[in-house]
Amino acid sequence: SIMTRTPLIAGNWKMNLDHLQSIAFVQKLAWSLKDASHSFDDVEVAIFPPFTDLRSVQTLVSADKLELAYGAQDVSAHDSGAYTGEISGQFLAKLECAYVIIGHSERRTLHNETDEEIGAKVAAALKHGLVPVLCVGETAEDLEKFGPSAVPVAQLKAALAGVASDANLVVAYEPVWAIGSGQAATPEQAEQVCAALRAELATTLSSETAAATRILYGGSVKSGNIAGFMREPNVDGALVGGASLDLDEFSAIVRYKK
Ligand code: PGA
Repeated sequence: SIMTRTPLIAGNWKMNLDHLQSIAFVQKLAWSLKDASHSFDDVEVAIFPPFTDLRSVQTLVSADKLELAYGAQDVSAHDSGAYTGEISGQFLAKLECAYVIIGHSERRTLHNETDEEIGAKVAAALKHGLVPVLCVGETAEDLEKFGPSAVPVAQLKAALAGVASDANLVVAYEPVWAIGSGQAATPEQAEQVCAALRAELATTLSSETAAATRILYGGSVKSGNIAGFMREPNVDGALVGGASLDLDEFSAIVRYKK
């Protein structure tokens, strides 16, 4: 990847680890990463715990001055008001979240989130100073019908309608067939789609934004396959699910260069 884009290794905890478990995990993770600080100090690490963990994580990160970014797994499109069960971007900003995952395939599928809603969430995140980690990706059926890039590119384009051309965001390419399946895309497959996504960013936003935006690969990333993805010029990091809950695995992924 180009030197100007700092690689980002992001752990999506999904609905795992309560706030007490999150404290123990973050302490161990911080220790494990500190131990290896010389080998990974040019990689940014971020975790995405459940909402109920975020206050505990904030307290720990600020008290111990940890070099660990964090964010939420979803955000409301609205600022405040009668939206039972939703969480506003301003609440996440108050908890010093840097990032928020938007449009994960599990939200798209299990909560019927549309490209339009996802676009509204991206706009809300940016409005509150959060960096959206916008997830796009095709199903196995899409892949067969439309080829590798059409669906992810269309999802990206739809979510960015109305976003400022200099928006600070991260894109995560996560083929649905690779998530939690143990069947990761090949580095070549990931590169092909990430390059197409970057070209779309140049068209929809600007060539400067496209060059500055980190595009992650996600879907069955492990310590054993991370290096192959990171060698690709348009892959700037990984969004890691299952393996982010295993301390040794996640630390090894962060240290992919070794
Ligand atoms: P996985 O999940 O690493 O367990 O495949 C990735 C994701 O859903 O973000």
